[in-house]
Amino acid sequence: AAEEGFDVEDVEGAIEEAGHGPLPVLAVVGRPNVGKSTLVNRIIGRREAVVEDKPGVTRDRVTYEAEWAGRRFKVVDTGGWEQDVLGIDASVAAQAEYAIEAADAVVFVVDATVGATDTDEAVVRLLRKAGKPVVLCANKVDGPSAEADAAMLWSLGLGEPHPVSALHGRGTGDMLDAVLEALPEAPAQSFGTAIGGPRRIALIGRPNVGKSSLLNKVANEERVVVNELAGTTRDPVDELIELGGVTWKFVDTAGIRKRVHLQQGADYYASLRTAAAVEKAEVAVILIDASESISVQDQRIVTMAVEAGRAVVLAYNKWDTLDEERRYYLEREIETELAQVAWAPRVNVSARTGRHMEKLVPAIETALDGWETRVPTGRLNAFLGELIAAHPHPVRGGKQPRILFGTQAGTKPPRFVLFASGFIEHGYRRFVERRLREEFGFEGTPIHISVRVRE
Ligand code: GDP
Ligand code: GDP
Repeated sequence: AAEEGFDVEDVEGAIEEAGHGPLPVLAVVGRPNVGKSTLVNRIIGRREAVVEDKPGVTRDRVTYEAEWAGRRFKVVDTGGWEQDVLGIDASVAAQAEYAIEAADAVVFVVDATVGATDTDEAVVRLLRKAGKPVVLCANKVDGPSAEADAAMLWSLGLGEPHPVSALHGRGTGDMLDAVLEALPEAPAQSFGTAIGGPRRIALIGRPNVGKSSLLNKVANEERVVVNELAGTTRDPVDELIELGGVTWKFVDTAGIRKRVHLQQGADYYASLRTAAAVEKAEVAVILIDASESISVQDQRIVTMAVEAGRAVVLAYNKWDTLDEERRYYLEREIETELAQVAWAPRVNVSARTGRHMEKLVPAIETALDGWETRVPTGRLNAFLGELIAAHPHPVRGGKQPRILFGTQAGTKPPRFVLFASGFIEHGYRRFVERRLREEFGFEGTPIHISVRVRE
């Protein structure tokens, strides 16, 4: 590395950064209008999580990456909820429940100028039951005179209330320091540590694609090893099902089986639930209704799984209903609408007739294999050397940027760091990714490539 102009510390630092494992998840929960989205914007330092004065904005983006004091984590924003037919308490509870389930730590936001309400107390009970670390955020403390309001929130019994003005940024640094203390380095469901446990599958897809039908089909035909059904029906549960002689954990199956009919906000709940399931899983089986056109919603779900870095299997359901013509158009749609996951193994199934159910497990195993693939550094560099000799980067401004060497910094999903003599263009990175896939497989897994340029 030294003779290529990188010092050893730079290289080691880059590899460590690129090779990070799954990030711990922080959920921000609380009543509507207490300032959750404003706080999330502060934490992520961007204007991405839309804040609107009028309630009722539906959003389907719920997780964001954040960094504080050099540590990276994910934030789940539950600000996009809507009050619905369930009434305020049940709505807040449902929203908080999904978020808490997916989280490693929780920021509970209370409006200090209003004080603790009955709804807040209800959330406190949920938090106690979940047993996750909680940081209490007393929001809307815009100046010193409001600090007494914050102190009143000791009464919630969640420890020290952190006075914060999400709007102006006051106190958010101190609160984030407390968050980092509460947040474990790696998620509780860390892949690396769960050796020997059942592999975790998230069955996801937009409403009515057939998730519960598929789950019922496999659970009825195969052996349900242990039904971990918890005490109350509201609890999200995981189910252990034996498929192909192996026990798998289907995560968040209660969310699939439970029929929540909400007049408003149903999409938002669905997104939150999908995000929670994806966070807990290693592989996402994405169900798509083959009888209907592939929709933006399907694409968003795919993006969610890919961005979370999970292994992906695409299952085209309701295959029993397809005629020749639909099949033709489906193939065209897949090519154009789902090009981003052209690498994912595919099965054409019918939850109704049981068609091709036996192909599901091999597809899942293929995806997990790709997800865990590690390419030895020697082989990678031999491959890169040949690739670059045969297809050099285009000359730019009289210079020819070159990939000097590379290494795989991590797996689950595979992460590569390439060290280069100059800026490597997007198109060339895509080309390298394509060739990496051709050479080493990586079927069913997103791969990350970061490039370090010599100073
Ligand atoms: P959410 O429903 O909990 O996500 O709340 P929002 O983040 O959408 O905020 C609701 C309203 O409270 C918006 O009008 C925000 O501008 C306002 N707000 C949020 N944080 C603060 C704060 O620290 N101080 C004041 N004065 N207003 C705030
Ligand atoms: P979910 O909302 O994703 O859980 O979808 P459901 O499992 O509730 O299925 C929605 C509808 O599609 C129901 O009426 C099912 O009977 C129907 N359905 C599910 N799978 C299939 C299938 O493979 N073929 C056909 N023809 N219908 C299906």
